[in-house]
Amino acid sequence: MSRLLSSLQDMDREYVGFATLPNQVHRKSVKKGFAFTLMVAGESGLGKSTLVNSLYLTDLYNNRKVLNAEERIVQTVFITKHTVGIEEKGVRLRLSIVDTPGFGDAVNNTESWKEIEDYIDQQFEQYFRDESGLNRKNIQDNRVHCCLYFISPFGHGLRPLDVECMRALHDKVNIVPVLAKADSLTPTEVRRKKMKIREEMEKFGINIYQFPDCEFDEDEEFKQQEQLLKDSIPFAVIGSNIQVESKGRKFRGRLYPWGVVEVEDPAHSDFLLLRNMLVKTHMQDLKDVTRETHYENYRGKHLCFIFIYNNIVA
Ligand code: GDP
Repeated sequence: MSRLLSSLQDMDREYVGFATLPNQVHRKSVKKGFAFTLMVAGESGLGKSTLVNSLYLTDLYNNRKVLNAEERIVQTVFITKHTVGIEEKGVRLRLSIVDTPGFGDAVNNTESWKEIEDYIDQQFEQYFRDESGLNRKNIQDNRVHCCLYFISPFGHGLRPLDVECMRALHDKVNIVPVLAKADSLTPTEVRRKKMKIREEMEKFGINIYQFPDCEFDEDEEFKQQEQLLKDSIPFAVIGSNIQVESKGRKFRGRLYPWGVVEVEDPAHSDFLLLRNMLVKTHMQDLKDVTRETHYENYRGKHLCFIFIYNNIVA
């Protein structure tokens, strides 16, 4: 005990102690746990649920009901939410996946993104109410932090529905576009499709999630990684719910008569790049942009609306 006190005294002579602030923040955050909400959007059958299961190595869709063609004709978009608690090295994450079954399925899809837009707004509204209420300590953050938008590999770039939907959502959520089922395309086709989609997004004024610019003193490896992420948009992805075995190795993949596709092989798809971005490197930035940009947009408009309403009523 006395040795501990004297070593503390020695340290105090040299430091005030604020260098430990990051550790204090770290300890508090770990204790509190983290929450992240990911939305997946895009027409059904593009591999959304398979990719989510592959990303988080869990079965998030165990009670899912797939509708038949007749049911889908009259089906409007409905929103489903699955939440799981995952723990890794003592860090707890409450992960919520918001799915949008029915999107793009009906015969007439005009404004079928409205349900998605309303859902995002409702989460902002709930957060705004909780924040203005008395018990602000235990607010649950259900705001959507990222929307993976699935683009079909079979078309010639974006469909009108993709353009309209992304334009309706881009001021409310961080959109990360993905090129689905990339194993159905050759490397040249993937390159061409990515370029065409990027051109179309620019032409139609679609604002997707922007990776933050690197500071000049950042190390070279980090800068290269960030550039690779920017150049890979839309991420060409492959998903699989099964393990396959090849050359004495077991991995998540797809088995075809002509060979195997490994989900996590960077030569086959951008899956690893996307997972690293979503989980390891940019989860906090996605949450920050949601709070500082999208939620602030909503809050500003909402406060303005309340002000005008009160003046009319007064
Ligand atoms: P969702 O309706 O968008 O959620 O699509 P699902 O995840 O249910 O997948 C629909 C079908 O596509 C299933 O038969 C999957 O096995 C298959 N699938 C999923 N991901 C891929 C992929 O990356 N490549 C290929 N070729 N098929 C896939």
